[in-house]
Amino acid sequence: MPKKGLKPKHIPYRTCVGCREVQPKRNLIRIVRGTNGVEIDSTGKMPGRGAYLHDQKSCWELGLKGNLARALKTELTAEEHERLIEFARNLPE
Ligand SMILES: [Zn+2]
Repeated sequence: MPKKGLKPKHIPYRTCVGCREVQPKRNLIRIVRGTNGVEIDSTGKMPGRGAYLHDQKSCWELGLKGNLARALKTELTAEEHERLIEFARNLPE
């Protein structure tokens, strides 16, 4: 990354667990395994183990095949899986 000025802003990068692309965190949607189970973290600030996916249907489909659960070190319940599929349905291709 080229440095501009004296204080380059630190941009956190994360890997999409669907396509494995590394992206600035703000371009990705965070999924968290918190106290209420696996859910979509729309604030990006929920406590728990997080994983990231593009706001792109294909990445969610890939992620839901197993990468997401692996990244969260858990098994998705049928209900959680359904909730995430439901969310992905509204995403662009
Ligand atoms: Zn992706």
